Amino acid sequence: MPDAGRSSTPVATPTVQTPVRTTLADLATALPPLETHALSMDAYDAFSADQRLYALAVVDGEHRPVGILNRFKFLERLSRPFGRDLLTRQPVERSMDPAPLVVDEHVSPDELSTMLLDDAAQYIFDGFIVTREGRYLGIGTGFSLVRHLTDRRQATLFHMAHHDSLTGAPNRQLFGDRLAQALTRARRDGSEVGLLFLDVDRLKVVNDTLGHAVGDLVLKGVVSRITRELREVDTVARLSGDEFAVILPDLQASADAERVAEKVLNALRAPYVAHDADFNVSCSIGVAVYPADAANEAGLQRAADLAVYEAKQFRNTVQRFTSDIQHTHPTTLLAYTSVRRALDDRRITVHYQPQVDVRSRRIIGVEALVRWHDPARGDVPAMDLIRLAEDSGLITGVTERVLAAALPQLLEWKRLAGHRELALAVNVSGVQLRDGSLVSLLERHLQVTGFPASDLELEITETTLMLGNASTASTLKALRALGVRLSIDDFGTGYSSLSRLQRLPVTGVKIDRTFVQGIDGDDSGALAQAILLMGHSLGLTVTGEGVETPHQLAFLESHGCDVLQGYLLARPMAADACGDLLRRSSGVPGFRFEFDGSGPA
Ligand code: C2E
Ligand code: MG
Ligand code: MG
Repeated sequence: MPDAGRSSTPVATPTVQTPVRTTLADLATALPPLETHALSMDAYDAFSADQRLYALAVVDGEHRPVGILNRFKFLERLSRPFGRDLLTRQPVERSMDPAPLVVDEHVSPDELSTMLLDDAAQYIFDGFIVTREGRYLGIGTGFSLVRHLTDRRQATLFHMAHHDSLTGAPNRQLFGDRLAQALTRARRDGSEVGLLFLDVDRLKVVNDTLGHAVGDLVLKGVVSRITRELREVDTVARLSGDEFAVILPDLQASADAERVAEKVLNALRAPYVAHDADFNVSCSIGVAVYPADAANEAGLQRAADLAVYEAKQFRNTVQRFTSDIQHTHPTTLLAYTSVRRALDDRRITVHYQPQVDVRSRRIIGVEALVRWHDPARGDVPAMDLIRLAEDSGLITGVTERVLAAALPQLLEWKRLAGHRELALAVNVSGVQLRDGSLVSLLERHLQVTGFPASDLELEITETTLMLGNASTASTLKALRALGVRLSIDDFGTGYSSLSRLQRLPVTGVKIDRTFVQGIDGDDSGALAQAILLMGHSLGLTVTGEGVETPHQLAFLESHGCDVLQGYLLARPMAADACGDLLRRSSGVPGFRFEFDGSGPA
């Protein structure tokens, strides 16, 4: 979350939404005009005295504009033979342009520029006269107009680059600048700065159950509710999906930061209304104060990060940073921020490992396995990522990423690679079974992609199932009702009893790799065989995973194992490679995996 390495330089933030609409009165310069009877000499004197004087208006006795003198045209006329002698003694009427562009002050710069570009381009050069109720007010030039339009465009671009487009709140970059500014000021005048990190709890659930449009409304509501609790000088920024930050400069006492946090927490607790239903979201807030908790921006962000991490353990609370937190969670916090980053930066990808039907020797499915390449740590093992994601409450994000990648990918293979029957196995974590968000997540993904539910198999580890409670059981039932298949992963490691197994709504088991290895080892396959018998007696499909040797394969085949998966057949591979393999193995009528260790034919 905090970017410790980045040193932000304070930048001035231009005012973007000018509260009062800019009119031509703002762009015009109130130069004194000349009256019609004035001599051109007067104009010449005025132009000579001020090199930057661009144009002069000529008005009648009522102060109504009747002409304009453009500097360059006027001087050019004077420089003609006898020009000066002839013209300077005559009234300006003789040398002015008698049909100037006259516009009322209420015309907007946009209207004027449309007018100029459409059919009056010469006035960009000549200048234009601005009037109020028909009387001369000032003179404007093409430059002033262009400058205004470009400034405004710059301001818009600046705004877009520094604000979140959904909520209009400052984004992470502007947040960094504002925080730096606040600390600079605090150092100078010895004041305190509060920093709140705020995480909306269960925004995912809202998105999953009520749709993203409602999620968006909630986010906008969050920003406006927070803003209402703040002073003019405070900043609320959106850092990423459901993370916000609040900067509270110029605090009188550090306890004030917690007081504001409590007020914000209360404001966000009130129900939201959408689709005639009201619902609640809560949030977790971490509080850190400069200089009490940290001496610089990076330290302050880290402290607020730790505090919000701690707050999230309980949800719907405010947690002030204490040095205890730092000592209890250093690694978890690092985990949390790095997984979050990985998700934000799309560094989490999916590999696919083929599953082969023993009888037909054809690929009947693939298992999606998550992959994380971290720039600092290199390739992080899937198990480590999953554990970090579970610990830090980000596991749903990981599953979502896997589904979002794999479901459309499988549909493409079914279509292009001619594997109409191809099934997808996705691993799900026990944490997700317990918090119940999995059902709506899957429902949404199946619906959006049109992926057939019966071709989706969820792998749940046996230990998870054995530790499961009542809500796990009801989640399993709901998943089956969706039509997806359920299989028990790493089967044999969790000591399930037969009677327990019988009551679970599962469709398959995967013999854990250690028992497959046992075939070549001391138990000579006794355990693998027992698991096969047990699975089949319950009418379940049995998959042997981690098959590495031809002997293991022959053993599993001869004992009636249904599906095989392992390095001997194919390793997990990136989508492109898996697509190639699938294409090669379709179209070929008699294609079979050669079960001799040479892999796909
Ligand atoms: P798993 O579901 O039991 O997946 C099988 C693991 O064994 C994979 O490791 C796979 O690469 C590896 N494997 C496959 N064939 C062989 C073989 O012949 N020999 C050996 N030694 N290993 C083989 P991976 O990809 O490192 O994943 C480890 C575990 O992480 C998975 O075990 C699964 O429990 C978990 N995991 C992976 N992806 C996800 C995911 O998207 N969500 C969740 N919740 N868990 C995941
Ligand atoms: Mg698995
Ligand atoms: Mg397994």
